[in-house]
Amino acid sequence: MSSKVVIVGGGVIGSAVAYFLRLADPHVDVTVIERDPTYARSSSALSAASIRQQFSTPLSVQMSLFGIEFLRSIGARLAVDGVQPSIDLHEGGYLFLATEAGAATLRQNHALQTSLGADISLLEPAALAVRFPWLNSADLAAGAFGESGEGWFDGYGLVQALRKKAQALGALYVADDVSALVRDGRRVTQALTARGDTYACDVLVNAAGAWSRRVATMLGIDLPVYARRRSIFNVSSPARLTHCPLLIDPCGVYFRPEGQHYICGTSPAADRDPDDLPLDEVDHALFDDVIWPALAHRVPQFEALRVLNAWSGYYEYNVFDQNAIIGRHPDVDNCIFANGFSGHGLQQGPATGRGVSELILHGRYTTLDLSMLGFERVLQNRPFVEKNVV
Ligand SMILES: Cc1cc2nc3c(=O)[nH]c(=O)nc-3n(C[C@H](O)[C@H](O)[C@H](O)COP(=O)(O)OP(=O)(O)OC[C@H]3O[C@@H](n4cnc5c(N)ncnc54)[C@H](O)[C@@H]3O)c2cc1C
Repeated sequence: MSSKVVIVGGGVIGSAVAYFLRLADPHVDVTVIERDPTYARSSSALSAASIRQQFSTPLSVQMSLFGIEFLRSIGARLAVDGVQPSIDLHEGGYLFLATEAGAATLRQNHALQTSLGADISLLEPAALAVRFPWLNSADLAAGAFGESGEGWFDGYGLVQALRKKAQALGALYVADDVSALVRDGRRVTQALTARGDTYACDVLVNAAGAWSRRVATMLGIDLPVYARRRSIFNVSSPARLTHCPLLIDPCGVYFRPEGQHYICGTSPAADRDPDDLPLDEVDHALFDDVIWPALAHRVPQFEALRVLNAWSGYYEYNVFDQNAIIGRHPDVDNCIFANGFSGHGLQQGPATGRGVSELILHGRYTTLDLSMLGFERVLQNRPFVEKNVV
């Protein structure tokens, strides 16, 4: 492939691709078309910004192992003019909890994660009660806790740092909306924008997040990625929870510390989870009906808490198997998709950016092989299911 790359979307995925491309080859011409430089509705700016290795597939674990390595070394990697960015990485750990029903799966996942080098401890109920004395462990059979390598950070800061470094390395960012793509047989040749500009491309990268399905449609391709609203609630509580991790309750409700307060959320049940719900409408009923009761059950001190504020963002949700779709579609030779991260795209951004840059520059993966995430599995109806979607 030759050297003019146009990336649609400049969130964590598009910016990571731009950064790794320019880092590897300063001769490649990289243009990122991002319609909103404020990232007001971008998932990367609205997420819970957390990273874990507690996944169910080896590839997800490996992508996040690279993710944490990248985040730990971000100051050196993404420094511009000697100024090192800070993303306030806090390795507070994830605590996945299981009742009897989920204990076998938790143990199985734990064996996989540790075999790949993740630093996760399996804790029986007695050990849980000692390490987390504020936890109601009466109905629990086990927990898995990330001793290191898991935690949370400033997600918006990560995007800004990637963007600034990509720009410093020579990537061009354009504030415009890609409204059409021109296809010539098996190739995409141009991106047309709302302002009326035309960008010729040798390679196009679809990094449009929750809007990537629309971009795929411009090429006549059906991408099974839909925008699913997810709400986050910022709550205050007099509870003082020592060594509080990001806790995942067996029912799917999660919470973690955020400064002096806590943030929490959950994925709604399928019957209250249609596509494209407006982001400015937070699902407050979900908090009242599902989240608060679960929090109060798991942490009795959370009986007293108050919602300070709340916001929503979109998961770019792959309805096929809840894993990213990364790579070419067999019908178009020069378009690379990097979509459908289904709630874990921020932490997979570095591994995805590196992998997509390898595909563009070498035609294959040269470090971590991401081909299991290729489009072919969707077309051949071979799901590659990630069970640990939060
Ligand atoms: C509530 C919530 C919590 C989350 N928590 C976590 C977490 O804890 N850990 C984790 O790893 N992940 C988490 N995620 C998921 C993560 O945020 C996303 O997977 C990731 O940010 C996706 O990055 P992206 O670059 O693909 O999408 P985005 O950040 O949305 O970027 C896509 C960009 O494309 C632009 N765009 C779209 N269409 C066009 C067009 N036609 N022309 C020009 N520009 C266009 C948009 O403006 C946008 O900025 C969470 C997400 C949400 C919503």
